[in-house]
Amino acid sequence: MTIYLQQLKQYCDNTFSYIEDYTFNGLQVEGKNEIKKIVFSVSLSELLIDEAIRRGADCIFVHHGFFGKSFTKIQGPLKRKLQKLLVNDISLFAYHLPLDAHPILGHNAQLCNMAQLQIIKPLECGFICGNALNLTLSQIAEHINEHIPSKYAISQSGSGPLLPTHQFNANIYKFGPEIPQKIFICSGGSGDYLDKAIREQCDLFVLGEPKEHLIQAAQEEQLNLILLGHWRSEQPGIWAVMNDVAEKLGVQAEYIEIENCV
Ligand SMILES: [Zn+2]
Repeated sequence: MTIYLQQLKQYCDNTFSYIEDYTFNGLQVEGKNEIKKIVFSVSLSELLIDEAIRRGADCIFVHHGFFGKSFTKIQGPLKRKLQKLLVNDISLFAYHLPLDAHPILGHNAQLCNMAQLQIIKPLECGFICGNALNLTLSQIAEHINEHIPSKYAISQSGSGPLLPTHQFNANIYKFGPEIPQKIFICSGGSGDYLDKAIREQCDLFVLGEPKEHLIQAAQEEQLNLILLGHWRSEQPGIWAVMNDVAEKLGVQAEYIEIENCV
């Protein structure tokens, strides 16, 4: 089925609320008016654009699009990516923080459902969740893994107080109770939000990509960590939007997986 670019813009405007961000959210590059196929992926790259062209896509939807708010130097890889989009008349939509924070379709809401936890309230772009089923750390990681399995293996080397248990493609740092009761889920590069998890007296922080100091700081606060990986933790929202777009607009939608183990 063919839809119009304006319909997709309208869908996005209705779906995502405005959140102050360091990037433009929405239609970043305008392509052709008629859309037969949309491809979805986590991050914009030249690889992704090449694959979108190969698949005959009219539109690309990503979480990490062109970052920044001013393009004053269009050279090198940026020029090539823009040129490929414009020459092929492909639109680019990117939703960053509004997709993290969406209460149903967002990465964090989806992760919360996958883990079988219950949303209590939003915090930054993530959610504070409860654990009504009294799941253990391993069960939470396992539930998430059932929905986002990974082809890359994580192996443990050495042993020490700050090394994680690698289970279900997640790094589990058991610094607190085996059965956490108050969980902060925040996907992607959310390591800076450790203080917020502590202030909320959480006993588990589920995140994508940590900062170096996070591990010891969490240990000192007896806060459990489950590290999922940045890219891996930011697929669920893309899948949810893809399914929603296909269902509501009836347009062909495909996921392009460009795996990234960070
Ligand atoms: Zn991210």
